[in-house]
Parts: sequence; C-alpha cells; structure tokens
Amino acid sequence: MKIMRPPGNLLQQRLLALLDDHATGDGMTAEGLAALLSLPAPEVEVELETLTRLGNLTRRAGVGGEAYYSAAPRRKLLGNMLVEAGVITEEQLQEALVQQAQTGGRLGLILLERGYISKQILGQILETQRGVPYISLPTYPIDEQLVRSLPEWVITQHKVLPILREGREVHLAMVDPTDVIAMDTVGTLLGARIRPLLTTERDFDWAMTKFFDVSRRVGESLAAAPEEEDQGVGAVSVTDAIEAPPVVRVLNSIIHDAVRIGATDIHIEPDVEEAQVRVRVDGLLYDKTTLPRGTAAAVTSRVKALAGMDIAERLRPQDGRILLDVEGREYDLRIATVGSAFGERAAIRLLNTQQVLLGLERLGLFPEQEQILTRLLAHQHGMILVTGPTGSGKTTTLYAAINQLNERMRNIMTVEDPVEYRLPGITQIPVREKAGVTFDLGLRAILRQDPDVIMVGEIRDPATAAIAINAALTGHLVLTTLHTSTAAGALVRLLDMGVEPYLLTSEVAAVVGQRLVRVLCTTCKRQHPLRRETDIELFRLPPGLMLFGPVGCPECGTLGYRGRTGVFEIMEMTDVLRELVLQRKPATAIMDAARAGGMQTLRDSAIRKVLDGVTSLDELRRSIQVEVQ
Ligand SMILES: [Zn+2]
Repeated sequence: MKIMRPPGNLLQQRLLALLDDHATGDGMTAEGLAALLSLPAPEVEVELETLTRLGNLTRRAGVGGEAYYSAAPRRKLLGNMLVEAGVITEEQLQEALVQQAQTGGRLGLILLERGYISKQILGQILETQRGVPYISLPTYPIDEQLVRSLPEWVITQHKVLPILREGREVHLAMVDPTDVIAMDTVGTLLGARIRPLLTTERDFDWAMTKFFDVSRRVGESLAAAPEEEDQGVGAVSVTDAIEAPPVVRVLNSIIHDAVRIGATDIHIEPDVEEAQVRVRVDGLLYDKTTLPRGTAAAVTSRVKALAGMDIAERLRPQDGRILLDVEGREYDLRIATVGSAFGERAAIRLLNTQQVLLGLERLGLFPEQEQILTRLLAHQHGMILVTGPTGSGKTTTLYAAINQLNERMRNIMTVEDPVEYRLPGITQIPVREKAGVTFDLGLRAILRQDPDVIMVGEIRDPATAAIAINAALTGHLVLTTLHTSTAAGALVRLLDMGVEPYLLTSEVAAVVGQRLVRVLCTTCKRQHPLRRETDIELFRLPPGLMLFGPVGCPECGTLGYRGRTGVFEIMEMTDVLRELVLQRKPATAIMDAARAGGMQTLRDSAIRKVLDGVTSLDELRRSIQVEVQ
C-alpha cells in the first residue's frame, strides 16, 4: 500500500495548533516549525502562506528579514478594524464583546443584529480582513446540482455551500472561511480544490431554506454502538466527527447520507481514474458521488478495519460486519469486499434492526389475498413458503406474518441469515457459518426447544429442506422462503432438493410469490393515454387507456416514485395441484392449473396496481418477467 504524505490541509491544522500554543510569543519562523514537524521548510512555508492569506495567521518581518508567523487574534482584529474605520464606536464594540462573552456567537453578526453595521459593510470589512471575497448568496447564481452532490450533513454541520465548480476548483461559500476542516472535508468529498468565499449566517440560513427541508436535517455524529455479547463483533469507536481525520468524516457522511435517503446498500467501486459511490434506494442504484481513488481506498480500508477484516489483504474476497448507531437507530452493516482490476470494491448492506414492522395489511396485499393469508396462518401446522428473487420483500412478509402470530401466545423461534429485524418476544438465532451454526443445525436446535411456530430464513440446501418439511409434519407451523421466480417453481425446486412428493403435497399449505414495485409519487404522478403497441399487445389493455406515469417533483427527489409496495400471488395447495406435484409435472403446468383455479398471478396483481394508479407500466415491466400469453 502506498503511503501518502498528509495532505496540505492536515498540515495546516497541525501548524495552527502549534501556533495557537505560541500565541503569546513573537511567533515562529517556517524553519522553526519545519524542524518541530520534521518536514522540509519550503513545504511548511507554502502552508503558512496559505493560512496567512486566509486570515488565520499574521506575518511580520524579523530583524534579518525572515518571516515570523503568529496566530491571528481574529476577534479583536475585526472589532478594531471597525472602530478604526469609524463604522462603530469603541462603546458599541465593548457592548458587543460583552454580549458575545455572555451568549456566544460571531461578533460580526452581533454587531449586525444590534444595527451597528450593515450587511454590506460587514462583508467588505471581513473581505479586507481575511483576504476572502464576500458574496451575497441570494444574488448569486448557485449551481443547485453541485449543492446536491454534497451530503446535507456536511453542509449543515460546517455551514458551507458549494456554489460553483470551475475545473478542479470548487467555490465554497462559508460562514467561517477559516474553517480548514470544512474545506478539507468538502475538498475530499468533491475531489476538488477549495476556493473559500465569505458569506453571512443569514445568507446561509436563506440558502438552507431554499435548498433543504429544514425539518429533515440530520444529526451530528455517528456514535459507536454497544458491543453485542456473542456476535463476535469488535467494539466500534468512531471519534467525534469534528475531530476525526478526513477519511472517517468522508465515511461518516456517506453513511449518514445513505441512511437519510433510506438507502439499503452502499457501493464503493473503484474505476480507472476515480471511484464511484452508489447507493441503492427502493431497489435501484443511484450515483451518489465520486471520490479520488486514493480516498476511496482509504475509506474502504477504514470500513474493513472497523469490521475486523484483514486490511492488508486487498484481493481475496472478505466479509465482516459493524454495528452502528446512526441518529439513535441501530444499524447492522454487512460488508463484503473483493479485489477488482482497479482496486478493492466494497458493498455495504445497511440493515436497520429496529425498523418499524409492517402489519399484513401494509404489505400491499389485496383484501382477498390478505384474507387467504390470515386464514392460512391460523393453521396449527404445515408449511407456508414465500418465494421471489433477492430484494423482493420476502423477509418483510415473513416478519409481518410472525408479528401477527405473536399475539397468540405461542413459542415462535427463527433461524435467519442475517437477522434483519429484532422481534420482541421471539427467539431469533442468527446463522453463523464460521462458528458452525448453519441453517440446518440451527433448525435442529430449535426443534429441541418445544416451538410452535418456526421461521426458517431461507431454504438453500437439501438438508434444511428435509428438516423443515419434517418439522411441519411433526406438528409445527413452518414459515420459510425460497429463491424461485414463481410460486409454482417453489414446489418443483423442493422436489429437486429431494423432498418426497407425498410429504410436499401433505405439508405445504400454500406458496406466496412476491415482488416489490415502486409506488408512484402521489404529488406529481400524471395520466397518459396508453399508446405503445408492445404494451397493448403484452398486457391486453385497450389503446388510449389512461394510465398513471412518473413525473418527478421535490417531494420524491425528482424520481417520480416514493417507497415500494408488494405485488403477490398466493397459491393454495388444492387436490388438483397435489395430483400434478405427485406426477412431477413442470412448473408451467402447475401454474396454469392454479390460474384456472382462480389464483391471481403476480402479473394479474401488478396490472391491477397499474390500473389503480399505484405504480406504472414501466415498473411492472422492470419487476416482473412478462411473457406474451
Ligand atoms: Zn413527486
């Protein structure tokens, strides 16, 4: 791994700290500071000059012409300048200083609020004093896309606003243009050099109201979560955001931002020149930001270190986890890394273990489907399967079912990989392959605990399938998922796993097939007549039919959709279907028979949701494989 020299802005912080300690003396020379830091003097001098230009330091010439640098007494300087310029009186300055001592806040703003100075004068004075140009935000054409490319968290915490990008340089409006940490953070996040511009607190507040919904502002620090006793996860210690080094702050802002927009996954993907950070929201990936490759590598290393992974190993696939408290909610981060051609790629799954549970009535089932499911769940034994691809909401459905059963005072136990939600009153056993706890072993252990209802996170192998079906046979209600595209396919898959047809037909009560579709934003959705030939043919809908489609507005972040809902098919086991299974007929035959028996297929349910204006035809096409019938 290449060791990088600390970037200039880190050096700036160290220089400021050193000079603050020497505030009472005559200042120090570049040579003196360089010796203290064991760095070449010219490098140190460059940073000292920058800090002087930004108003953090003052410079005076010594006897031999050498430059002595001291920490700038900023507060006094502003007041004195105003008095000297005849803008305010000495008395007014004293009053303001007394108020500042009592209430805190910036002297300039106090003077402004007391009506002693105008905004323009304050701007001009600050401009002269700090050598930083002053801009009035409301009159400046701000690049909104640039604003959005920076996490809101960084903007509110540091009171900065990126307003213009010119090549590698970003103009950053700052309430405190001496805040080198802010410049450093923004520079790293946007992969740009920062040109500071001064703005006032009021202008900043104006911009916040303009660009952000203030009520959604994010909290501040990514606090450490308490270590769990038996999960084998190291305690995470994340330093306070302000004091943390840049890499940690970049990581914090990526995670905060992802949590804020409700993302389920974060991807850090190195490419030829830069690394792309993408997030998955409502099932789809969106570009979030780009990072310089070096920064991305450092961020990934940081994640690996927190997750107790081997940071020296950057090629072999690894996985790990971190428990984090983000804004008071506990998140279980699942990290997977793999070496790619351009560096290490990281995928981070964000599981909110305390997510609010949905009831059956909130899943998106039609009333008659909900009735069927409720009836099935009242069975004392048997197996109910939920099927669909990854990310189709299977686990949420199982949890909703379990939650409903939980009111009936029964012993409910689960074996899951991972435990996605914590269910109070229910024993949940996480699969831990490394510790030898597999699905089938966990399930065997559960059966010795006198359970009534068992949830098996997923049936992945013949061993688990065999124990699960036997559990159903011996008087337990078993809820589980299978990774197949249709309900009918699940039966065939179980037969392929070696489950005896007679057990399958006697124990499986029903198979629920499901998908998630995005819900059209109710604020901006609009009706259009159906015109596309293929759609008319494929969905057998009349041409000219008015259907809702996405538009995009501030409410939905211009996506046109907000949230997702389930689309279901519920296949109850009937004598007709049993006969087909016993004859080992293909899934298509079982499917046709189920439909003939009155089952609403995934496709039927989805079309109904399109007609209801809940989702769009595009979403239907994206989420459900449709064949011409
Ligand atoms: Zn909208």
